Amino acid sequence: MIEVENLHKSFGDLEVLKGIDCRIEEGEVVCLIGPSGSGKSTLLRCINLLETPTSGDIKLEGKSYLSKPKEARELRSRVGMVFQHFNLFPHLTALENVTLAPLKALKLSKEQAEVEGLKLLEQVGLASKASTYPGALSGGQKQRVAIARALAMKPKVMLFDEPTSALDPEVVGEVLAVMKRLALDGMTMVVVTHEMGFAREVANRVVFMADGKIVEEGEARTFMSAPQTERAKAFLKSQL
Ligand code: ADP
Ligand code: MG
Repeated sequence: MIEVENLHKSFGDLEVLKGIDCRIEEGEVVCLIGPSGSGKSTLLRCINLLETPTSGDIKLEGKSYLSKPKEARELRSRVGMVFQHFNLFPHLTALENVTLAPLKALKLSKEQAEVEGLKLLEQVGLASKASTYPGALSGGQKQRVAIARALAMKPKVMLFDEPTSALDPEVVGEVLAVMKRLALDGMTMVVVTHEMGFAREVANRVVFMADGKIVEEGEARTFMSAPQTERAKAFLKSQL
């Protein structure tokens, strides 16, 4: 589904990604973990071309979009992204947040977009909040709307960048539950997270990054219970 080949990214003199190689298979759930500043967000942002890599290549279903800036929009519409800070439009209801992109980009009729939008809100347990504005939703509810909004574009892959890090502890579980269901339904997912329980339980594979490189990766349970490198051991210990 995704192939990242010898990816480098610098901001000025600062080299943030120092040659990343990884493949993500269809239906796979990969948790990307590592210390703050190791380049996890930058890697996700490169995958959907919110950042332009300095060198290397990224392919989605075998196709590279890097040298085709005009097609970046096509790539972004096929890769859903969920951020730490929801980024919902405050002046739109939950349903309007979900239907906005499909109305514009998929050229759905208003009725069609609303029917599908309501189904998605139902899928994240928020059918009853369709007419509610983000300001009146809890953090967990906002994040679930953001997930529904990303799904509305019928993405091939979903990228999550610390989707629960900004939430109150009591609502983290409801967001993780929605993500878990999505994973069980077969969605290909890359999840940057500090939720080690989620990584162990839901991920197929864990990729551990430090200092702009992949230091270790492995089958999720094996990695979580028996990391091989000293860096990964120290990191996992620090997350307890
Ligand atoms: P992580 O998500 O693992 O915490 P990031 O990818 O956000 O790491 O950041 C990696 C490094 O890149 C950090 O040192 C950060 O300050 C730097 N960085 C990220 N984005 C930019 C940017 N737009 N301009 C300059 N430096 C950046
Ligand atoms: Mg980050």
